[in-house]
Amino acid sequence: MLGSEPVPVRAALGRVLAEPVVSTLDLPPFDSSAMDGYAVTAGGFRTLAVRGESRAGRPSEAPLEPGAAMRISTGAVMPAGAEAVVPVERTEPVEPDRVRCPAVEPGTNVRRAGEDLSAGTTVLGSGAALDPPALGVLAALGLGAVTCARRPRVAIVATGDELREPGQNLRPGQIYNSNSVALAAQARAAGAEVLSEAIAGDTPDATRAALRAALDAADVVCVSGGVSVGAHDHVKPVLAELGVAERFWGVRLRPGKPTWFGVAPAALVFGLPGNPVSSMVTFHLFVRPALRSLQGAEPTDTRTWAIADSPLARNASREQVVRCRLAAEPDGWHVRPTGEQGSHRLTSMLGAAAFALVPAGEGTVAAGERVEVELLPVV
Ligand code: AMP
Ligand code: MG
Repeated sequence: MLGSEPVPVRAALGRVLAEPVVSTLDLPPFDSSAMDGYAVTAGGFRTLAVRGESRAGRPSEAPLEPGAAMRISTGAVMPAGAEAVVPVERTEPVEPDRVRCPAVEPGTNVRRAGEDLSAGTTVLGSGAALDPPALGVLAALGLGAVTCARRPRVAIVATGDELREPGQNLRPGQIYNSNSVALAAQARAAGAEVLSEAIAGDTPDATRAALRAALDAADVVCVSGGVSVGAHDHVKPVLAELGVAERFWGVRLRPGKPTWFGVAPAALVFGLPGNPVSSMVTFHLFVRPALRSLQGAEPTDTRTWAIADSPLARNASREQVVRCRLAAEPDGWHVRPTGEQGSHRLTSMLGAAAFALVPAGEGTVAAGERVEVELLPVV
């Protein structure tokens, strides 16, 4: 866990509470009308004199006169002595200032103080992610700021002699550095602050300089590329030299096989495969949960089951992460691959709302069979 800090509610979208929020107010704060109409005592069908008014924000100072009805608006304080509200459309004016009212039970169309939330209740626990409804509730309680987990600081290092930043001209054999842009966006969506994005050429010196700077500044370092077994993959030896202890290298996952993870004294380090799909998939499955945990939030995204619309071939030795669209059908959720699934095909991530998790094994998940899916965050 990282430390905590006060955050203005208006700036807290996506942040994670570091302390529970206990209501100091009843919501609604007072008994109020749910309708525009007349505040009355409970009783049978009758004709009542109309006396006084209670409006939203302007309560009646006088109580309800015996045998009378008081005009009242939605959200206005119930006057003393009133037990129910008759909506205006259920009444009938008979002469100036007299209305016919139907029979009404006590409490009808009255919102009781505290029926939504009573003072002293824990409304949001520590670890709650602040979404628009949560921000609305915090504002309804009159809070201007809340204590949130500090955002993890992320440094991104993209390795590769072939990389150029978008906007530059490409020479033969070069490609644009798309991983840093996609990873930075994923990091922000997970609640992190992205401190830096560096490109390191494929030499030990360039790799060392970029990784040292990243380790000095960040809580979480994401390296893209250079973690395979190629002659120009320098990330692992340089990280070892910089005192980062390897925890694992290689996962039985497709895409994502060469994923590397290690720990430095003050940072977690993820070595993500360079292929653009692999880097995004492994960020989602490994880095995002770490970033959520560091903030004290629930680490994993929702997993459920969906019906495969087309056959999904299994891989003999590795679990597969198939990028899928989700469709709501009468018999529930269905998934279908976004398209061709090569780990270099970045457009297979476009429109993907879920990862289908196809277990390793022989044969296929047949069309119509259920497959486990992880729902991707909606940003
Ligand atoms: P590597 O993991 O370094 O062997 O890279 C695997 C593949 O991913 C190669 O085709 C690289 O050109 C490509 N790649 C590596 N880094 C990036 C990046 N930052 N943006 C786009 N593609 C990349
Ligand atoms: Mg490379």
